[in-house]
Amino acid sequence: MEFRYLIIQWYERHKRDLPWRHTHDPYRIWVSEIILQQTRVDQGLAYYHRFMEQFPDVETLAKAEEEDVIKVWQGLGYYSRARNMHQSAKTIYQDYQSIFPASYEEIKRLRGIGDYSASAISSIAYGEPRPVIDGNVMRVVARYAGISEAVNSVAGKKMIMEFLLRQIDHDKPGDFNQAVMELGALVCKPKQPLCIQCPVHSGCFAHANGLTAGLPVTIKPRSVTVRFFNYLVISERKEDDWYIWLKKRTGNDIWKNLYDFPLIETERELSVKELENSEDWKLIAGAHHLQVIQVMNNARYLLTHRELRVKFFIIHADDYFHKDFLKIRFSDHHKYPVPRLIENFLKKVDDQPGIFSKFPD
Ligand code: SF4
Repeated sequence: MEFRYLIIQWYERHKRDLPWRHTHDPYRIWVSEIILQQTRVDQGLAYYHRFMEQFPDVETLAKAEEEDVIKVWQGLGYYSRARNMHQSAKTIYQDYQSIFPASYEEIKRLRGIGDYSASAISSIAYGEPRPVIDGNVMRVVARYAGISEAVNSVAGKKMIMEFLLRQIDHDKPGDFNQAVMELGALVCKPKQPLCIQCPVHSGCFAHANGLTAGLPVTIKPRSVTVRFFNYLVISERKEDDWYIWLKKRTGNDIWKNLYDFPLIETERELSVKELENSEDWKLIAGAHHLQVIQVMNNARYLLTHRELRVKFFIIHADDYFHKDFLKIRFSDHHKYPVPRLIENFLKKVDDQPGIFSKFPD
């Protein structure tokens, strides 16, 4: 018998009795999936019940105060996930009349929903044949199919997806997905898998070849370097226009030939005072008086193997000049190629033109 039949048969007999397995309600499935990304099933259960008690449907969640949503989430960590759920509930309430979007593509457009959750919801709630890939699934498939490519590499992920697309049951894609995940959680465990109890052991490559300890293969992600970017957004008003200074990025670093602002890179987060006392500040200011009027966007950006922590210091100057920087009229900023995070900042200023003239309260 094929993998798909054996595994679904096994799932029907051995699955754990969990509340979200008694429903096809996409809202409940969504909540359970997001909670289970944070914690194990036994701990997640209590959170799921509490969440459902307080926010039984999309509309209640959409109308809730963010603070109350966060409170129910408290202890799970990654609070941005709870905020994203809250935002997405608002979108469903406002744009879809509280009816959960009914296809993978539409679900994936909601904030905070990636491939994994969109596949899980669309397959379980709507019967769309979208394979779900998580750590349990990767382990089961790599062992069963004998995939020796690292499961966290592009090639490895592609092979796993191809296997699942060939195998997924088009009549019961939700059960198929849950069955593979459940097998990984209960039988095909990371250490000492229970192969004798496994419904697919007769066709399993790793079992037949004594390779369960060697599969799946993973490559260690390189460690992430954290860089602190302090951007000096020097602004000056002349008659009716605001001017700002840009710097073209040269050298062998990220964003070569794009423009950003005069930058002071540090090894840790600095206060305004510390920044103003730094040598780099003196080099940028020269004989001019630069006055910080506001600090914005204490934000994190993830690049490959790098994390940027970025602050924008909005600064006032008079008759500023620096030979390395380019003075432009603010309204001309769209003429210069800039990295995404600078573009986002400039858009924000476009939307709130008062930012340059605002002094701290
Ligand atoms: S036979 Fe063993 S290694 Fe293969 S899928 Fe089953 S539990 Fe995993």
